[in-house]
Amino acid sequence: MKRIIGAALLALVCATGATGQESSPPQAATPAEPVTVIHAGTLLAEPGRSPRREASVIVRGRRIAEVRNGYVNIPGARVVDLRDHTVMPGLMDMHVHFRGSLDDRIQARLQASSRDYEDAAFTAQMHAKRTLLAGFTTVRDLGNDPRLVTTLRDAIEGGMFPGPTIVAAGTGISVSGGHGDPRNGQNRDLADIAAQRDINTCNGPDDCRRAVRNQISFGVDVIKIAASGGVLSNVPGGLAQQMMDDEIRAVVQTARSFGRRVAAHAHGADGVNAALKAGVNSIEHGTFTNDETFRLYKQSGAYYVPTLLAPAAALADGRRGALTPAQYQKAQEAAGNAEKSFARAVREGVRIAFGTDAGVARHGDNAQEFALMVRNGMTPAAAIRSATVDAAALIDRSNSVGTIAPGKDADIVAVRGDPLADVRLLENMQFVMKHGRVHKLGGERQLTEVD
Ligand SMILES: [Zn+2]
Repeated sequence: MKRIIGAALLALVCATGATGQESSPPQAATPAEPVTVIHAGTLLAEPGRSPRREASVIVRGRRIAEVRNGYVNIPGARVVDLRDHTVMPGLMDMHVHFRGSLDDRIQARLQASSRDYEDAAFTAQMHAKRTLLAGFTTVRDLGNDPRLVTTLRDAIEGGMFPGPTIVAAGTGISVSGGHGDPRNGQNRDLADIAAQRDINTCNGPDDCRRAVRNQISFGVDVIKIAASGGVLSNVPGGLAQQMMDDEIRAVVQTARSFGRRVAAHAHGADGVNAALKAGVNSIEHGTFTNDETFRLYKQSGAYYVPTLLAPAAALADGRRGALTPAQYQKAQEAAGNAEKSFARAVREGVRIAFGTDAGVARHGDNAQEFALMVRNGMTPAAAIRSATVDAAALIDRSNSVGTIAPGKDADIVAVRGDPLADVRLLENMQFVMKHGRVHKLGGERQLTEVD
């Protein structure tokens, strides 16, 4: 092995010598980055603006190098023919949970005490791959074990296996007894064990500062809080505000001091409004609203991440007996209001970022959210924009993702036909490229060097 590397180095030195560039360091002779040219019949480079016809996207290595008119050819480049497709930036889901899934919940009662972190890690890897192949090249994981999700994020980024870029929240911070308390739904022996591993509950502003710093010490990118009750925590008591105003303010201030943004799970209008007043960056679910809610959305500039798929999935679970009575009661309350609040948010011009809460619904079905958004008053163009341009702004990564432009990450997807006319075409993703690697082509999975 050493001899082969030695021979390769010698060859490099000779090559440099031969061109008369003795002073060049050896790395100057590293092989050129692979070049791919995508021939796009329709190019939706910046969703929300008009698409252009017959364009070429030139990808060098992991980045977009150039966008040109017409179908250009470059010697030595791989050509991907998408002339009957609409090519657009990779989709972004601002609310997933890679660790969990619907199937898990049904299995949970049988094997609750036998599943451990190692099982969850493999499950999460499978969900990440499925999500990428559905066309989602970036996600926020808003609730997962912080060690598991940061390891998953770094392993994908390091090219160990395929998956979307992950913006990770670690474990959502909750008040004791609240939506994210790990003791919820456990028998009391297991609850005692859960209490020993409690890394995410807090009570009072000081304690909530500690909880935020604790998550940050695991290397998370964003802070998630449960400002109100939640549907799937196995506790009765509704969906109202649980984290108090002073606690939410302490969370936001502490997160900011570390350059982190805050995503607030909130269903009840009191919880939504308190979180908006405290300055969170996004409201997750935002099920119940009142006039004040919409004033606050606009004043604060916060994003609303609707997750319309989640209540629909939870309700279906409840109907087939897969939820506890406490969960089912809350699922019924939420489902009726989520779409109503969404429709008004569209009318009022609230900033909306696409999110599904996948893990409640099935991972890989994320694009089904688009049809729910359009059914409730959003245009397909605006819905696609919410999953690209707007999502990128929410996570402060507009300089690397969200549009197809020179210098940005080559995260590019395509569907056959016109998704601006029929948004459900996005459920049938034909082409997926992430960081310049083609993971799906002609609707078929492609093996890459990271598979
Ligand atoms: Zn969630």
